[in-house]
Amino acid sequence: MTSIRTQVGIVGAGPAGLLLGQLLHLNGIDSVIVENRSREYVIDRVRAGVLEQGTVDLMIAMGVSAGLCRAGLRHEGLYLSFNGQRHRVDLADLTGGRAITVYGQNEVVRDLIDARTTTTRPLYFDAERVSIRALDTSGPIVRFSHGGTEHDLHCDFVAGCDGFHGICRPSIPAGVQTIYERGYPFGWLGILAEAAPSSDELVYTYHERGFALFSMRSPTVTRLYLQVPPDEAIESWPDDRIWEEMLERMRTGDGWQPNRGRIIQKSVTPMRSFVAAPMRFGRLFLAGDAAHIVPPTGAKGLNLAASDVLVMARALREFYEDGRTEWLDRYSDVCLRRVWKAQRFSWWMTSTLHRFPDESAFDHQRQIADLDYLTSSRAASTSLAEQYVGLPMEVSFEAAGLRG
Ligand SMILES: Cc1cc2nc3c(=O)[nH]c(=O)nc-3n(C[C@H](O)[C@H](O)[C@H](O)COP(=O)(O)OP(=O)(O)OC[C@H]3O[C@@H](n4cnc5c(N)ncnc54)[C@H](O)[C@@H]3O)c2cc1C
Repeated sequence: MTSIRTQVGIVGAGPAGLLLGQLLHLNGIDSVIVENRSREYVIDRVRAGVLEQGTVDLMIAMGVSAGLCRAGLRHEGLYLSFNGQRHRVDLADLTGGRAITVYGQNEVVRDLIDARTTTTRPLYFDAERVSIRALDTSGPIVRFSHGGTEHDLHCDFVAGCDGFHGICRPSIPAGVQTIYERGYPFGWLGILAEAAPSSDELVYTYHERGFALFSMRSPTVTRLYLQVPPDEAIESWPDDRIWEEMLERMRTGDGWQPNRGRIIQKSVTPMRSFVAAPMRFGRLFLAGDAAHIVPPTGAKGLNLAASDVLVMARALREFYEDGRTEWLDRYSDVCLRRVWKAQRFSWWMTSTLHRFPDESAFDHQRQIADLDYLTSSRAASTSLAEQYVGLPMEVSFEAAGLRG
């Protein structure tokens, strides 16, 4: 057993853990990141692709945006499609020039791992038997095994950035947190296809047969999603069936449809809304998917991970600069304000755009009316646009030690 000492022990090298590590580094705060998967696995995991304006600005302010600025695709609008017609929502016009950027989460993670490596601060991949203890003391410990050696990582704080299935949230004693949860009677079948995107902007489709989403990862790779039953086996979707269903749902009256290409990845993801509150127990602070999950329709998950760790960086900066704990004490409340607004938005986007198994003919007509209103009223479109590009962060970049 070896003993290591750091200021902040970070469990998980996803977007939350890596962004936090870099924010702390920029403030001269020491951290050790412990990840139970391999470097390749973490980089290759296909997930989010839509970055809010604030997340892009944050990465620029942190100096980790070279890849993002080179390969990110800035989108100033999106389409809502229903009754066979696409309607453009001009995000930039409705929000004073703000936009979203399509840049794969795996690219974000790759860039952040490179930045971490440059700092020479420790990042352990392939850690085994990770556990956390003494959380309600001033000296919490992250215990893990690496390369056959057991390590006790002694910290001032533990950042639980280990995602929904991690060990940090379950380490909080029963009864401390309240769980708010909602399931959905469907999931998303997602594919990556070697095909040039046939639209410069995302297309959200409401169709009699269910929701579909057209998106992209690069000028040569298209990303598409279909609403399917939640427990759907991917084996029951051979490639031809996927294309048939995609085109059936997405094709519009003006002849637009996605380009077809070789499918290089496919999977089914369940949909869930979940919040565990408070996001803190003693010296353990949860961030990102470890504390909350949103259905992917609103494209908020990675962006919430970024806004959580910005608040945590501010709180830890104040603690190490002048011993104040005010922001540490407020951490959970401040994060949850933004989390709940993103939860509400993600639930609303999901409810508006999907078909529900128990819906009535009345519900169906109401959904069409919702979409008609959304695309014909500037007030309604503005509400969608400002939430889609991202509501303001709760903490300024300057307060978190960045130049802004
Ligand atoms: C299909 C899909 C599409 C999505 N689209 C979008 C989108 O467009 N926009 C958006 O903002 N979000 C999107 N999301 C959500 C987004 O991917 C997540 O919210 C994001 O990954 C959260 O980051 P995180 O760092 O909190 O958690 P994670 O990315 O899950 O990272 C947690 C890390 O902790 C590690 N870990 C787990 N257990 C342990 C352990 N015991 N010890 C050590 N390490 C551990 C994991 O291996 C992982 O590397 C999407 C998600 C899916 C599945």
